[in-house]
Amino acid sequence: MTCAIVWFRRDLRLTDNPALATALQSCRTIIPLYIHHPDDKTPWQPGAASRWWLHHSLYNLSQALRQQSSRLVIERGEVNVVLRRLINKHNVTHLFWNRLYDPWIVERDHVIQQAFQSAGVHCQCFNASLLIEPWKITTRSDLPFRVFTPFWNRCQQLLASIDHPIPRPDALLPPPKGIASLTLESLGLLPAHTWDEGLTSIWHPGETGALNQLRRFLDTRLTQYITDREIPGRAGTSRLSPHLHFGEIGPRQILHALGAATMGSADHGNDSARGYLRELGWREFAHHLIYHFPETHHSPLNPNFHHFPWSWRDESAETLSAWQYGETGIPIVDAGMRELRHTGWMHNRVRMIVASLLTKNLGFHWLEGARWFWNTLVDANLANNTLGWQWTAGCGADAAPFFRIFNPIRQGKRFDPKGDYVRRWIPELATIPDKHVHAPWLVDKRLLINSGIELGKSYPQPIIDLKSSRQQALSHWHRIK
Ligand SMILES: Cc1cc2nc3c(=O)[nH]c(=O)nc-3n(C[C@H](O)[C@H](O)[C@H](O)COP(=O)(O)OP(=O)(O)OC[C@H]3O[C@@H](n4cnc5c(N)ncnc54)[C@H](O)[C@@H]3O)c2cc1C
Repeated sequence: MTCAIVWFRRDLRLTDNPALATALQSCRTIIPLYIHHPDDKTPWQPGAASRWWLHHSLYNLSQALRQQSSRLVIERGEVNVVLRRLINKHNVTHLFWNRLYDPWIVERDHVIQQAFQSAGVHCQCFNASLLIEPWKITTRSDLPFRVFTPFWNRCQQLLASIDHPIPRPDALLPPPKGIASLTLESLGLLPAHTWDEGLTSIWHPGETGALNQLRRFLDTRLTQYITDREIPGRAGTSRLSPHLHFGEIGPRQILHALGAATMGSADHGNDSARGYLRELGWREFAHHLIYHFPETHHSPLNPNFHHFPWSWRDESAETLSAWQYGETGIPIVDAGMRELRHTGWMHNRVRMIVASLLTKNLGFHWLEGARWFWNTLVDANLANNTLGWQWTAGCGADAAPFFRIFNPIRQGKRFDPKGDYVRRWIPELATIPDKHVHAPWLVDKRLLINSGIELGKSYPQPIIDLKSSRQQALSHWHRIK
């Protein structure tokens, strides 16, 4: 009698799940297992927003399994110990999982595979979360790519050979009779006091939510993606990032659906599909980088920055807090930080603007911002977050050079010309004329009073002078150049 454990991690779906599909082909009973291991020695334990998402995603997975006469077995503890206990107790013959690429998970999984394999358990792992795995793409000199464009050019040559997604199974196999499970609630993933109304009102975690979100995006947004994706005031992007992070949908499914959705469409549709695919390319790139350069989650990829004096300004807790809570007095930054706190998500353009202000004008270490994002984003993802912060701080692969310091006023005028986005998140500025909405401190006092705004009272004065802080950042950079 063969019995498999399918070890769910961040692949919380039934469709295109090769670990599950292989177990179904090779075994008679299946234990769908989730192990909660909060004491793992990771410096990046899931933050509050991620835990909220995880709770709902596990709930959805367990419902989906129940609909097919199976059920999710939830355990808590050190993964090695939990797996050994279940393997011994239920005579498990096979252990299947889908790969992840966070450095300590790669190491841990390797140890687990060796240990159980030598104990006679058939162990097998699969690719479910990337289009192409990190070791399959190298430069001509057999090195990992560090620059996005040649990386993506190479990836595109391989896209045609990517497997079609595996269909959702028609039926599952039951777990062994009487197998125990913790309750989902006992994991304590939900917040003790309710701050999550904003999240609940817009997100639908789980595989069904992910598939619906993809369908909606392809049907109503894809053709305008190229023009709308940079406009934070429009719902122009797919908002699939948390679903992708938790593996409620995989990139092969998106690739396949994109192909089907744009078949025979006008050029614009295809441009948009290509543009969208390129963003998935950035996701691939980020995961390849974290795999090949595992230290980058705490250390800059560009060695010139190893001794960079990040915290050159007096790093006051109040300044950091003003940034975190959207009280800097710089509207596009505050709008982004408030969107993040309310929804657990922030538009990509605004992520770059707020990150640039923190690391360059305010002179904080990029890790300070990465940690705040980690705790507040529903899509907090080690590879993407590391790439995003190092890119913006100018110390990573393919970085925007350090001297490229975003001017939040100019960025606001360009990408939010009428101030729709700013006004949505900062109602204090609702009545200010469009052309002043990104720099209220430059406006004639009388006009401000007429608009019902009193800087320093109803909305903060800017906490930093953008021009002089820019110069100061550049002078630090010149020292290491
Ligand atoms: C400072 C900073 C921190 C970031 N932290 C994260 C993070 O923790 N998790 C995260 O998923 N993304 C992160 N990003 C990347 C990007 O902002 C989000 O992936 C994107 O905003 C998600 O929205 P979407 O799904 O609507 O994107 P879409 O535009 O619809 O793109 C589709 C998918 O492509 C991927 N993608 C898009 N842009 C990027 C990018 N620049 N880098 C890597 N992948 C990308 C995402 O998986 C996204 O879901 C960060 C960017 C910056 C500048």
